[in-house]
Amino acid sequence: MRSHVPSYELVVARDLPHALSMLTEGFRPIAGGTDVMVLFEAGKLAHKKWMSIRGLPELRTIDVTPDHITFGALTTYTDVRRSAIIAAEFPLMIEAAALTGGIATQNRGTIGGNIVNASPAADTPPALLVYDAEVELTSPRGSRWVPYTQFHKGYKVMDLASDELLTRIRLPRKFASWTHFYRKVGTRRAQAISKVCFAGVRRGDQMRVALGSVGPAPIFLENSDISAISPIDDVRSTARYRMQVAKNLMEEFLHASA
Ligand SMILES: Cc1cc2nc3c(=O)[nH]c(=O)nc-3n(C[C@H](O)[C@H](O)[C@H](O)COP(=O)(O)OP(=O)(O)OC[C@H]3O[C@@H](n4cnc5c(N)ncnc54)[C@H](O)[C@@H]3O)c2cc1C
Repeated sequence: MRSHVPSYELVVARDLPHALSMLTEGFRPIAGGTDVMVLFEAGKLAHKKWMSIRGLPELRTIDVTPDHITFGALTTYTDVRRSAIIAAEFPLMIEAAALTGGIATQNRGTIGGNIVNASPAADTPPALLVYDAEVELTSPRGSRWVPYTQFHKGYKVMDLASDELLTRIRLPRKFASWTHFYRKVGTRRAQAISKVCFAGVRRGDQMRVALGSVGPAPIFLENSDISAISPIDDVRSTARYRMQVAKNLMEEFLHASA
């Protein structure tokens, strides 16, 4: 049991402009807190200025236009699982959400938090990569859309400035007729961190594949060549096992989508 509870400052953002102004004062966002609070509890939260954005309804919407489905960064796994249009057109998002933690984590954890926490083992990034997602980054200077394939630059390194908030994620509505394939391999079927996570979509010769837990960040491939992956040995698995599982999943995907 810890005898010392670390002290930190917490503000609650009133609205998006308030949140953006607090970012410029050195506050960092807490969305669902399911990653941040684990660090807090472990005494590993070095940063002292935090801002809750959880109560901003403008960041928890799912909008549908003819070309895109756009959802707010605060969209939870449960919100995703309840969305009929995401289920119909982006089923890998549903599978990733359903395999993330348990119900309590799904009710609280957000897709934006999963992206910015930037764990190489996170479960929604591979699905977002194959669906050609774009992320909207907003600061007091304005907003910009970045292709998600270019967002992660290395281990926990992202194209995200300290005064930027991830505000929305949009998916182009062009994959409904493709074959969709998702596998999470962990120690157990549920409530386990991925040893390898695989997402793939295919239509004829066109193929998009992404993997998690096999490199410093989620990895996107435009073909079936997995030589770009660089798994490591760690507490959850070995590099050799991960490489073999990635090969097996690629074969399974190619077979299932042929
Ligand atoms: C019991 C348990 C089981 C879990 N199981 C899984 C699992 O199976 N698969 C998996 O992938 N993850 C899992 N997680 C991790 C976690 O639930 C997810 O990563 C979740 O999506 C994080 O979202 P959050 O809103 O809680 O993020 P928070 O903890 O609030 O924030 C995470 C990080 O993102 C930043 N951030 C959050 N929102 C924004 C934003 N809009 N703009 C900029 N920065 C932002 C925060 O500053 C922080 O650095 C698990 C966690 C727990 C506690």
